Amino acid sequence: MDILRAFNLRRTPQSQPADARQQPNSAGGYTFVLDDAARLRRFLTLGTDGATYYTSAHELTRQNAECVVRMAETDHATLVRTLVDVSLRGAAPKVNPTLFALAIAASIGTDEEKREALAVLPQVVRTGTHLFLFAGYVEQFRGWGRGLRRAVASWYADRDVDALAYQAVKYRQREGWSHRDLLRLAHPVTTEDARRALFDWIVRGSVGDGTPRLIEGFLKASEPDADVAALVGEYGLSWEMLPDAALAEPGVWEALLAKGMPQTALMRQLPRLTNLGLLPPLGGWTSRVAEQLRDPERLRKARVHPVNVLIAQRTYASGRGARGSGTWTPTPAVVDALDAAFFAAFGAVEPSGKRTFLGLDVSGSMTVPISNLPISAREASAALALVQLATEPEAAAFGFTGGWPATAINPLSISPRQRLDDVLSYVSGLAFGRTDCALPMLYARDKGLEVDTFVVYTDNETWFGDVHPHQALREYREASGIDAKLVVVGMTATNFSIADPDDAGMLDVAGFDQAVPNLIAEFSRGL
Ligand code: CA
Repeated sequence: MDILRAFNLRRTPQSQPADARQQPNSAGGYTFVLDDAARLRRFLTLGTDGATYYTSAHELTRQNAECVVRMAETDHATLVRTLVDVSLRGAAPKVNPTLFALAIAASIGTDEEKREALAVLPQVVRTGTHLFLFAGYVEQFRGWGRGLRRAVASWYADRDVDALAYQAVKYRQREGWSHRDLLRLAHPVTTEDARRALFDWIVRGSVGDGTPRLIEGFLKASEPDADVAALVGEYGLSWEMLPDAALAEPGVWEALLAKGMPQTALMRQLPRLTNLGLLPPLGGWTSRVAEQLRDPERLRKARVHPVNVLIAQRTYASGRGARGSGTWTPTPAVVDALDAAFFAAFGAVEPSGKRTFLGLDVSGSMTVPISNLPISAREASAALALVQLATEPEAAAFGFTGGWPATAINPLSISPRQRLDDVLSYVSGLAFGRTDCALPMLYARDKGLEVDTFVVYTDNETWFGDVHPHQALREYREASGIDAKLVVVGMTATNFSIADPDDAGMLDVAGFDQAVPNLIAEFSRGL
């Protein structure tokens, strides 16, 4: 045995660093480390309240919050630009991380930088709920100085009065905050009668000639014996503005549907609409609702995130609420419409035309829920892979896991022609073991597969293999003569990546960003 044969710069076990820039991940393997700007994107889109297999939600949140604080101190402009971009594209299924990052940007930095952060508040803080969340977060980092009070005052002073009245009655309080609290803090000044009357109603409950009409409708609907269905049509009330008793009446929901329900509310109320008999297998509101659900324009305008559609699809198809909150008999046309809505929510995806190997890490650690949503990292990976399978003429999906019970990499029998909930239950039923993210490249080389782009969906906690993934990619390139690329789709908000940041043929993207299919296709094409 020649001991000198044990030292090799081209094949390094994942339990040892292959490169001085690598650091140990939480599973005990060595991986590259993302810079703060890339980690910020993971944080904003994936969140931290779901924890990871290895790290508690608390610890993961601390690490990500520290990253945001560092960016506020060193690269404030990128922080603000990134959070505005994620917010305006609706790139994240939850708004909380973006509002949290805005709170930090509004609290840390030079006075000029803090002003710039507060200047984007109207773009990012769009609803009353957003405002309450932001108000809670910002108190974790600063007091109610003049700049902050002025920014909140303009939130109330600058938008259209009727739109403001809508926010005031739709989202009345949350997170321990109400509009009355914020108006008292911010003291917006106005010369418009209607706006002053609205403020008076919010702060004192007083109604006068100038009070916006919507408030009048809201108050009438809460009176005993009110004809709520008629008031919905007359005043354009949303379901959140109605008393609980009215929400048990099919006629009230018919009025809401006739007025047109916002896309997210419609998605969430499908079980109730079904139980009230409004979505029968034939007739009723079924075909109109199905059409609205999959309408790409409505999805885009409401910034509906595909992952939220995915969860709605699976929940609705299961006929059972997440926390034992009731049962219903799903209407097949509605299930199918949600299926179509999932793909439509990504917008137009341009295929790259490249031979694309979709490698799904199905190891044990990928079974954790992402962002505390009722969906695991590997289920979400499968759904994202479906979008590429539906788009790319030459793409195939494989699931891989290492070590136990045996190293396994197999074609996955998933197709965009299957129903989403069927695909998710198939994927969650797969056996899982240890993690070796080099397997896709090793397998393709072994089988002589021609691959232009490897896409690996993983939490990057690779540790088991005897060669690092980036080394396996270089070996694949040499053996095949194809200058293959690697895209790593990170499914947790850690800073680990198997992609070598100095190799222009490797790219790291944040898992839940709804632009992921387009980003991958662009990178594949070589733009
Ligand atoms: Ca794993």
